[in-house]
Amino acid sequence: MMPPTATIEDIKAHQQRVEKDKITPDNLPPCPRSSVDSIFFKIHAYRERRFLIIIEMLIKAAYCSLVRFKCPGCNKTFTDYPDFAIPHKHYTQPTITAFCASYVESENMTYQQAVMVDNSAPGYPQSDSTEAPTLAPTTIHRWITTLGRFTQTCRTALILLLQQNPVSSICRDLARLIIPQRKYKTNHRKKQLVGCRQLVIIEAFFQAAFKTSIFTKLATRCAFS
Ligand SMILES: [Zn+2]
Repeated sequence: MMPPTATIEDIKAHQQRVEKDKITPDNLPPCPRSSVDSIFFKIHAYRERRFLIIIEMLIKAAYCSLVRFKCPGCNKTFTDYPDFAIPHKHYTQPTITAFCASYVESENMTYQQAVMVDNSAPGYPQSDSTEAPTLAPTTIHRWITTLGRFTQTCRTALILLLQQNPVSSICRDLARLIIPQRKYKTNHRKKQLVGCRQLVIIEAFFQAAFKTSIFTKLATRCAFS
């Protein structure tokens, strides 16, 4: 099994959309400061961004531009993220969600085991090993913190799922969810683990119901909160 990842083609496709001026601000939420609707946002800057993708168990850097928009009401800036990106993360969304899911959905897994795919962890090529040689267990720990904070996205996805199927078993699945006590020492961490596991469940239902990911547009609309 190969770890899920955005591909070099995904990243090139986004770069082409940027270069052809296809990135629009309308999917962004309104400005939280001045309430200006995002359709009025103007292009502010293009920023090159490094992503880490996994090719045959090797971690490789790939680059593309992200578009920053500016609110004409108050000059606050907003970044447009393609669906393979999560703000402030270099690894891509499919990688982050897959490694987090395998950790939160298992009974006994440690973070050390969570980085392993078929007895090895994705690694950096010897030639540019300025970073850690392999995907680090602490990275998975941080990713869970991030995914555990998508409260608004999960809440909105749940509303859409229940509108589409009022008798969906999702509420039962969410209510039944348990995090083994050995996985946390504080209540704060427990909440992050629960939030992350809820996101994993909601994402699976969302994919089945709408044939798309909550990261495609919904997370952007919810300002990645
Ligand atoms: Zn504004």
